[in-house]
Amino acid sequence: MDRRQFLLSQSDIPTQWYNIVADLPVPPDPPLHPATNQPAGPQDLEAIFPGPIIEQEASSERWIPIPEPVLEGMALWRPTPLYRALNLERALGTPAHIYFKYEGTSPVGSHKLNTALAQAYLNKVAGVKRLATETGAGQWGSSLSMACQMFGLECTVYMVRVSYKQKPYRRSMMHTFGAKVHASPSHYTQYGRKLLEEDPECPGSLGIAISEALEDTVTHKNVRYSLGSVLNHVLLHQTVIGQECRKQMEMAGEYPDVVIGCVGGGSNFAGIAFPFLADKFAGREVRVVAVEPASCPTLTKGEYRYDFGDTAKMTPLFKMYTLGSDFMPPSIHAGGLRYHGMAPLVSLLYHLGQIEAVAYDQIRCFEAAVQFARCEGIIPAPESSHAIRAAIDEAMRAKEAGEPRVILFNLSGNGYLDLGAYDSYFSGHLTQA
Ligand SMILES: *Cc1c(COP(=O)(O)O)cnc(C)c1O
Repeated sequence: MDRRQFLLSQSDIPTQWYNIVADLPVPPDPPLHPATNQPAGPQDLEAIFPGPIIEQEASSERWIPIPEPVLEGMALWRPTPLYRALNLERALGTPAHIYFKYEGTSPVGSHKLNTALAQAYLNKVAGVKRLATETGAGQWGSSLSMACQMFGLECTVYMVRVSYKQKPYRRSMMHTFGAKVHASPSHYTQYGRKLLEEDPECPGSLGIAISEALEDTVTHKNVRYSLGSVLNHVLLHQTVIGQECRKQMEMAGEYPDVVIGCVGGGSNFAGIAFPFLADKFAGREVRVVAVEPASCPTLTKGEYRYDFGDTAKMTPLFKMYTLGSDFMPPSIHAGGLRYHGMAPLVSLLYHLGQIEAVAYDQIRCFEAAVQFARCEGIIPAPESSHAIRAAIDEAMRAKEAGEPRVILFNLSGNGYLDLGAYDSYFSGHLTQA
């Protein structure tokens, strides 16, 4: 019988985060202060982030130890399993071997809890009492709510108003974990009140929710802001995924020819890919592919330049691939992939030709998700289905070429709170964009 699962034990949870900055062929461009256009120093970030996070954001140390309480928190579900998708291989009739790392086993159903735990802990030790954040579809909000509960912090989540109404179960999850959830725009901030006065029915946006969370942060004592993707420290925290994968591929006795991840802000992709890119920098051959939605094609159609992280232009300027900070992506079901920019580290790697990028429309991704679910029994998050589409296409190319190929992709989350999106797909109400 072919081996199907590659499981590690608690003692295999990585004890250090891998910082790719130490191995980059060129140093990353620094973030700029929006008022002066000069590199933003640590003091510019102190109003929104605690010291230990600012330190990690600017660090070029290759290995950063994971604090014991964070390791203990991760042991609730880590290490996560690596599976070989045997049924999918057979259904495709491909000589390729397809492996996937499953991050959907976390208590909130996605990889986002890896960084939420680290961020909540680092804020706690810095004396912070409450975290403020934004959430779109609610995956990030539910992760941070759970992490704050674990380390005794309060948590306020500004949730985009349309999602607050359309995704009631994510909201229930945040309430269960003890967070305060406000539909954004809200009456709790000056910016929110102003928008509601102009339009009481304002549906909100991620940009508006970020602005409210930032205003909440800077107008209250002992409150800091937390972000679920894009920034260096967030990508760093996700590298436990790829480190586990390297061990698990060893158990399988194979090494991937290609590593694939979907990209919104870039964190789950970085998590699986960066430890393999370390091998690539050391001379090993491996292709690395980032997959984005055709409706928000940041890497494949964006420009590489300095831009704001948010719509309200409150954040520092980051050197990244961007569609422009006022780009309004259509409301596709993979809500976690609708971001105008891309992590500066992922952007730099793409700019240097170290990674590839492809874009797919959402119908082709749901087709792949359903085929995968029928073979492997897991219903993927709509975000993750982009990685599955790319993995299937790689496997079909291997079949056409009559070549063996080892494919590894990250299944960043499960789709059990996204079944409404599957209903739309089955009823034919899904648009291509
Ligand atoms: C948020 C999310 C993403 C996209 O965010 P990244 O930072 O690019 O990883 C992908 N998959 C799932 C399941 C998510 O919740």
